[in-house]
Amino acid sequence: MDDDARPAARLTVLSGPSGVGKDSVIELIRARSPWIKLSVSVTTRKMRDYETDGEHYHFATRQEFQRLIDGGQLLEWAEFAGNLYGTPRAQVEGWLSQGRPVLLKIDLQGARQVRATMPHAQLVFLAPPSVEELKRRLIGRGTEDEETIRRRLAHADEELSHEKEFDRTVVNDFVERAADELVGLLGSSFLTPAQAPEH
Ligand code: 5GP
Repeated sequence: MDDDARPAARLTVLSGPSGVGKDSVIELIRARSPWIKLSVSVTTRKMRDYETDGEHYHFATRQEFQRLIDGGQLLEWAEFAGNLYGTPRAQVEGWLSQGRPVLLKIDLQGARQVRATMPHAQLVFLAPPSVEELKRRLIGRGTEDEETIRRRLAHADEELSHEKEFDRTVVNDFVERAADELVGLLGSSFLTPAQAPEH
């Protein structure tokens, strides 16, 4: 099999510090580039006001999450700021076997697991324009209590230091520009919309 035909080469991971704007970038891609398949993760975290179960995440209890781990149903999973997050295996593998470009929004620990199990995956780091800007965004988000913000700020410095583990960096200076750049990365090594099967 040549490289272009390897299903795993179609998996792209988007990672980056909490508050960098991964959700906004993903929202734009969801609206404008429907041929890109977005994996919906499972999480034990509380649902935010603007979120919909099954669209932003599948919200689950710890017990339900543990059953998914035990059953080998997660491609990767990690604990982040006291909550569990994981990628359901079946849907991602199904899309990949159909040759669809798939995008995962996961944390660093998850990105490392994907790197280990799918060496052909493309790992993209979404970086803030500056550390100060990242901290401003995290504090200003207003969706979390003080303790959660404190944990996320502490984790952000740690996450920023791992940029070098990624294949590419996209700077989220303007969300539309960053989304376009990411779509370009997905498109450059994958099927074009015209070639992609009907979705
Ligand atoms: P949030 O609670 O802000 O939605 O996400 C917190 C962190 O969990 C983010 O860095 C996000 O990328 C990560 N995350 C979301 N889904 C997954 C997943 O399925 N697996 C892993 N490893 N991390 C995830």
